[in-house]
Amino acid sequence: MLHIGCHLSATGGFLNMGETALSIGADTFAFFTRNPRGGSAKELDTEDAGALVRLLKDNGFAPLVAHAPYTLNLCSDKENIRTFAFETMKDDIRRMEYIPGNYYNFHPGSHMKQGVEAAVGMISDALNGILFDGMHTTVLLETMAGKGSEVGGSFEELRMILDRVALSDCMGVCLDTCHVYDAGYDIVNDLDGVLSEFDRVIGIGKLRAIHINDSKNPFASHKDRHECIGSGSIGNEAFARIVNHPLLKDLPFILETPNELSGYAEEIVLLRSLVNN
Ligand code: FE
Ligand code: FE
Ligand code: ZN
Repeated sequence: MLHIGCHLSATGGFLNMGETALSIGADTFAFFTRNPRGGSAKELDTEDAGALVRLLKDNGFAPLVAHAPYTLNLCSDKENIRTFAFETMKDDIRRMEYIPGNYYNFHPGSHMKQGVEAAVGMISDALNGILFDGMHTTVLLETMAGKGSEVGGSFEELRMILDRVALSDCMGVCLDTCHVYDAGYDIVNDLDGVLSEFDRVIGIGKLRAIHINDSKNPFASHKDRHECIGSGSIGNEAFARIVNHPLLKDLPFILETPNELSGYAEEIVLLRSLVNN
C-alpha cells in the first residue's frame, strides 16, 4: 500500500494531527516542529505525544516526516544565526524522542557566499554536536532546488555532509520531487537514471522519504515553486512512475502542494489510484 500524507498544522497538538491524517486517508504526515519562522515552541505535552504514538501504532502508520523551521541556517555567515539553528535543532531532536522512530527533515542551509566547502564543514560540525548515541529519530537532509546559495542542490553536496557526520546511521535523505527536477535531475524522462545516480553518489539505502510535489517551473529552473499534483511541469504520468518504482514505492510520500485539507484528500485519492496492483 502506498504510504502517503501531507503537511499538517501542529496548532491542535499531536493527537489532532493523527486524527486529521486518518480523516483524509493518510498513513503518514509532516508537520513543523514549531513556528516555521523559528521562534520558541510551546512546552511539549507528553500525554498528547503518547496518544499520537498509540494512534500511529493502532493504524499501522509509516514513519512521520517532521520538518525543521525552514528559516534555520546551520551554515550562515552570522554566528548568532548558526547558534540559533543549532539550539533549535537540538531541542527539536529532544522533543522527537517523545514520538520515537520517526524522521526529522531539514534544509541543509545557504552558504551566503562562504562557499560549499565551508558550509559543509559548519553543517556537519553542528550535526556532530546535535546527534547522540541511541537517539530514536533519523535526521534527513532534504534535496534542494539550488536556489541562490542553497546547499544540497546536488547529490554530491549531500554526500559531503553525510561523509562528515560521525553517527551516520542516524542520517538519511528526503528527496523532494519539485526540488530535484528544479535542480536539474530529470525524474520525468529518466527516473531510473536519476535513482542510479543517487545510488552511485549517496547510496540508495539512505533514501528514506519523498516530498511529492509538482513544479510550477520548467526543468532545471532552480526556482523552488511547488504546484499541485498533475498541474505542473512534472505531471501525472511521471508521478505514476514515481509511486510505482520498486526503489520508492514503500517510502513515506509527503505532499507539500499549495492546498487546503480537502485538496490534499483529493491528491491522496489521485495518487493511490495511480498505484498498479
Ligand atoms: Fe522542505
Ligand atoms: Fe520539500
Ligand atoms: Zn520547496
